[in-house]
Amino acid sequence: MLDQLTERLTGALKTLRGQARLSESNIQDVLREVRIALLEADVALPVVKEFVDTVRREALGQAVLSSLTPGQAFIGVVHQVLTRLMGEQNEGLNLATQPPAVILMAGLQGAGKTTTAGKLAKWLKEQQKKKVLLVSCDIYRPAAIEQLQILSQSIEVDFFPSFAHQAPEEIALAALDHARHHYHDVLIVDTAGRLAIDEAMMQEIQRLHQTIHPVETLFVVDAMQGQDAVNTARAFGEALPLTGIILTKLDGDARGGAALSVRHVTQRPIKFIGVGEKLTGLEAFHPERMASRILGMGDVLSLIEEAQRSVDKTEAEKLAKKLKKGQSFDLEDFKSQLQQMRKAGGIGAMMDKLPAQLSRGLAPGTAAPDDHALRRIEGIINAMTPLERRRPELLKASRKRRIALGSGVQVQEVNRLLAQFEQMQKMMKMLSQGGMTKMMRGMRN
Ligand code: GDP
Repeated sequence: MLDQLTERLTGALKTLRGQARLSESNIQDVLREVRIALLEADVALPVVKEFVDTVRREALGQAVLSSLTPGQAFIGVVHQVLTRLMGEQNEGLNLATQPPAVILMAGLQGAGKTTTAGKLAKWLKEQQKKKVLLVSCDIYRPAAIEQLQILSQSIEVDFFPSFAHQAPEEIALAALDHARHHYHDVLIVDTAGRLAIDEAMMQEIQRLHQTIHPVETLFVVDAMQGQDAVNTARAFGEALPLTGIILTKLDGDARGGAALSVRHVTQRPIKFIGVGEKLTGLEAFHPERMASRILGMGDVLSLIEEAQRSVDKTEAEKLAKKLKKGQSFDLEDFKSQLQQMRKAGGIGAMMDKLPAQLSRGLAPGTAAPDDHALRRIEGIINAMTPLERRRPELLKASRKRRIALGSGVQVQEVNRLLAQFEQMQKMMKMLSQGGMTKMMRGMRN
């Protein structure tokens, strides 16, 4: 996620890290680089300009120049301004109303509205313990109605059926009535999108808005559209009183232009981000954490929160106890970690939140393994005997050949797995000895 932007920005700032002295002129040089990095990321021009001006003003005005570590202090200023640009703090959903709280989903076709409606329903059900009802007003595409129905079945959330001959307002009102009578806390209304901004579409969703008075009108937009995403957001913002934005497909967005500009241009908060096709691929948006990710510092807070949600507590405690006793992390533990990782949305989602230096260190020169690779690794571990899993040092050539044969892979793949395991073992050792803070401190310098 946003890899290109991170690379360019950290590249621009790297020259400052070790500098004992900063002057107005070398700050100018770095700011020029930052400006280019942002323009290449497809950030809107006025946003770039204001960003660079603010950083310059605050860096020169503050104690950056007289600080003991001016490079770090400067990066601190960039981090603050980046955070503010994206909105200061997380803004959650406002559901404080007489139930059912109505959420209206708006956006172009293909932006990810229907998928996001499903993700949001799952999030509300699981994280907020809400009783949710889903309805689609997309009477033009029966497939869209069916898509939402299938999604609602898979997350076990109620679905209100609708049909192509009905008017969107009629459907929404009937769903609202149903939600009232069946004590639903939240009604999520998915709407029809078009491929581009279109007068008829805008009027239809305006009418729908006036009919059902949603407490939340969320604009769903594909982050990979860059500045186009920002322009569409502006157009929807003029037609509807949007209460928030959901940026989808951030997992595939290397540049980050939309993530950085949309808040500033529309003055509406980004409330969630979509980070994958799966229904677990939705995250609350935290500007401060995103700024850390963008600057290659990782988002360890989100990682920990997710781990707490999805990790089996007893397993985690068992492992912690074992490490504390000085026993080493073995392949059995590795396998159980892999399974937990899969539960937490896959390895890609986790790698994204690790500080850049660490995630590069874990998989030198290669991309992060995907979930398919995770399953293969589990397959290899399954082909080992319990003794081999506990004592990986026993794994010499003949055993490796047997394991490769048993799991249907080449011996090289078994070797690769063992190398990855060793990396993980090292990380676990570091963690158990110094804790997370020590590790992070080591990495930032
Ligand atoms: P709609 O026309 O706005 O309702 O869009 P859909 O919900 O049908 O989504 C369009 C496509 O985008 C589908 O293939 C989704 O799987 C995909 N999609 C939606 N959100 C995300 C996301 O956060 N990440 C990725 N990678 N794909 C997504």
